[in-house]
Amino acid sequence: MSNSARAPRYFTRRDFLATSTAACAVAAWPQGMAIAAATEPVLEADQLPAPAWVHDVTRMAFCGVDQFEQVSKAGVQVIHTNLIWPYYPLKRDGGGLTAQDDAALRKMVETCHGFGMKLSLGLPPFPPVSLVQEHPDWRMHPDDTGSVLSVEPREDNLGTRNPCNNGPWGDYLVEICLELVRDYGLDGFSYDGNYHAALCFCPACKAAYRAERERDLPAAAHLDDVAYREYLVWRGERLMQHYLRLKRRMRAENPDSALMSWTVNAGRYGHFLYSPRAMPAELNRVFDLPMQEWWLDETNFGASVCPAFGAAYLSAAARPNPGASEAYLMSRGNPYSADSFPKHERLTRNLLAMTNGSRAAESFGWPGHLESTAEVLAEVAKRAEWMPHAQPLSWAALLVSEQTRQFYAYRDIADRFLPHVFGTFRVGLEEHLPMSLICDWDVTPERLAEFAVLMLPNAAALSDQQVDAVRKYVEAGGGLIATAETSLCDELGRPRADFALADLFGVHYQGRPNAPLVRPELDVNFAVTVDDAYWAARVGAAQFLITDHTVFDDDKLRELIPTRVATFKGPQTAVSEPANPAEVVARFTPEGWKNGPLPAMILRQHGAGRVAYLPAALDAALWSYAYPYQRRLLKNVIDWVARTPNPIMVEAPMCVQVAPYRQRIGDNDRLVIHLMNTLNTTAQHGLPSVEVPLREETIPISGIRLQLANTEFRSFFLEPGHVPLPVSRSGAVTTVDIPRLELHAIVVGER
Ligand SMILES: [Zn+2]
Repeated sequence: MSNSARAPRYFTRRDFLATSTAACAVAAWPQGMAIAAATEPVLEADQLPAPAWVHDVTRMAFCGVDQFEQVSKAGVQVIHTNLIWPYYPLKRDGGGLTAQDDAALRKMVETCHGFGMKLSLGLPPFPPVSLVQEHPDWRMHPDDTGSVLSVEPREDNLGTRNPCNNGPWGDYLVEICLELVRDYGLDGFSYDGNYHAALCFCPACKAAYRAERERDLPAAAHLDDVAYREYLVWRGERLMQHYLRLKRRMRAENPDSALMSWTVNAGRYGHFLYSPRAMPAELNRVFDLPMQEWWLDETNFGASVCPAFGAAYLSAAARPNPGASEAYLMSRGNPYSADSFPKHERLTRNLLAMTNGSRAAESFGWPGHLESTAEVLAEVAKRAEWMPHAQPLSWAALLVSEQTRQFYAYRDIADRFLPHVFGTFRVGLEEHLPMSLICDWDVTPERLAEFAVLMLPNAAALSDQQVDAVRKYVEAGGGLIATAETSLCDELGRPRADFALADLFGVHYQGRPNAPLVRPELDVNFAVTVDDAYWAARVGAAQFLITDHTVFDDDKLRELIPTRVATFKGPQTAVSEPANPAEVVARFTPEGWKNGPLPAMILRQHGAGRVAYLPAALDAALWSYAYPYQRRLLKNVIDWVARTPNPIMVEAPMCVQVAPYRQRIGDNDRLVIHLMNTLNTTAQHGLPSVEVPLREETIPISGIRLQLANTEFRSFFLEPGHVPLPVSRSGAVTTVDIPRLELHAIVVGER
């Protein structure tokens, strides 16, 4: 009965023909417009790799043509700027740009190329009034009554010409872009928008859905309705197809042209909450270089791990292509402004983004901050050599499951989804673990085999295929940590009767403590997990009791839990007792609980691998109600399940983020370890709920030590500056000492 959200990712010829046929049937195509898409196969998201030059991009800028010279002196490689709007009709049909726009665009491209920079044109994805007058049905239809058809398109109101890219407008936009690439030599495009609506009833959408899914569109955009979730998956696939068609046609015109567009997944806290989503996370793989606004004000939880996570998530979603974060100069968020913004904070933000894999995208338009823009880019340039093709070093993988966010946790993403992934990310950061974020499409046997540890932080919505990949991974020796309701639902958030991974966890699902332990008879369409009252029983205080096990055999933990009992406040899941009682190494007793303590932590062997299943979700607690023992215990559990030991042991304060990458370019093979000093000397001096990082100074940190196991790298340098680092070897362990870390540095290991 699975509609298999995964299968349609492989855009088949059949899918595609149905699509294009449907679109043709309902649309009057403009005179002379070739329906080129109909003759082309649609590709998988990763089948059109980014042009080689895109990987070398580390510095981009937003500015006007009058600043090009200044910007090129600051070392910028790519300019993003707006100039023109989509025109109608096409140039080849007698239309095209006005003489004035034509001249301005030519001059802009010529000037930009003259300074040796690429030009990515920001194209507002809105049709002109004249197009809408002729094709009023190309607009997005918010309802099924055709009411939009009577709305008069107006020059001064974009809302009156909001198009649907799932129909003829999408193909028309492709044709415009091709003419612009061909006639003006543009290097690429970005769009601020051009995603999808929550639901569209335009003729093209209706016909395509009927043709491909053999049913009508859902009546309303409501995630409680499984039919709507199925639609949302489909609409996301259609959006990816739109961009793949554009990319394929652009490449045919100019193999070096690129899509470097705005994305809406992770640059702001609000992006994580946005629902129903405006694009699938996987669209990031289609863009050659997705960019995100990146905000660290109080409304975006800038003082927490949230921004670093957001940059790391974009890198994971774009992989193997690069992604960019535009560090905003917002000192505060309500009201927001760049008032009193320290330039040291600007540098800190950019280097933090870089540590998490992001390329710099800087605006030259902040009043009073022109000089600091150039200074930031100069610092980025000093580190640029170690960015291209650097991929996170694979040891532990953290699944950020978009389908869990959207189809399981949508009623309260801030409580049901984010604490689990943020808390897990926090462990990695504070304990300096080599941790890579991965996405739903990475949960395959081939990709998982790269990792010693897989972490599924309440990854509730997993498909049968993903579950199978996880099972095979563990049976082959992989280490697994799962928390809370991981695998309780399918990929569309439909609840299963039990964990799909119950055989690995060694226990069965029994609901939530303080909620009825006997679950209602399960119906695949009864979304019990989204019932608010049921959910409310999930989070509460509990007593957390540990036993004797090697994961607790640690001086630090003895210090943090001296009585072997600790308070835990976080998501709780009730499970059965495992067949082997010794597998329960910690228990919890919820407040007001009348029965015996419940399993809190189950450690066991499965096949050749080890599994840790945590019904008491320490990961979420470490974000939303943290105690230090939770970090340390999670770290010990990660070490316990790991197939192979952590290859990079780090001695450093917890404010130092250590991000290791492997950079392979031709014969060049390097270890690239970013060290980011996130210390904020004024942290927690103000009202905690509105804390914002506005750093004016760095406290240097001495005595950082890296211990590398079995490394093939022999010499180590601190960059920028190419300072040789003291190295000593003892058996299989290579020790590298970093005498002093200022704000950010890169340890580069060479053979
Ligand atoms: Zn539509």
